[in-house]
Amino acid sequence: MGCTAADVVAALRAAAEVVREHRDELVRLDQAIGDGDHGENLKRGFTALLSRLDAEEPASPGKVLKLVATTLISTVGGAAGPLYGTAFLRASAAVGDAAELDRDAVARALQGALDGVVARGKAVVGDKTMVDALTPAVTAAASVDGSVAAVLSAAAAAAAEGAESTVPMVARKGRASYLGERSAGHLDPGARSTALLLRAFADAAAKA
Ligand code: ADP
Ligand code: MG
Repeated sequence: MGCTAADVVAALRAAAEVVREHRDELVRLDQAIGDGDHGENLKRGFTALLSRLDAEEPASPGKVLKLVATTLISTVGGAAGPLYGTAFLRASAAVGDAAELDRDAVARALQGALDGVVARGKAVVGDKTMVDALTPAVTAAASVDGSVAAVLSAAAAAAAEGAESTVPMVARKGRASYLGERSAGHLDPGARSTALLLRAFADAAAKA
């Protein structure tokens, strides 16, 4: 049993709701080590995405992911806009035009997303970015047997742990790196939003 375009759309609608609920938290995290716009940036992007999804119904999961990419690139701004945009673009390319995504396709999409973020932002694990959440998520997804929901659930759990691991780190990429040692002791906002998005996708897959 795979994930259809409609399932992917449902997961994105759920993610938009989670972004809305966590907007203030993400703003606070970004105020501590950045400029405080991360929650609003993402909320703007996912609100725009909801409008696009109301207006059109992409025919395949890959086309849905491409629509997410173009929408986030044109609306989110900051560092995270192009990074998330590239992530969804590479995820889209990784799944091609299959009508349904099985567990392997979902694992490939996550790997594509990580490759896109790394190609764009050049961060490695330990730099205190979304890469610290996404990297363990990809590893977990590749090593779990079972359904799409099981794969996404493992990825979400690993991403949550990965995000927590950013707290003691000194930022070496992005705006937080300007703070040097003072960036330590704070959760990275992008790692947190990555974990939140994966949790929303996993919860949606469990309901599908
Ligand atoms: P900005 O820093 O431009 O205000 P946001 O606040 O929207 O952009 O996003 C900040 C997040 O982007 C950071 O918390 C971090 O996770 C992520 N980020 C920044 N630079 C990079 C990079 N080079 N590679 C990966 N992620 C990055
Ligand atoms: Mg910011």
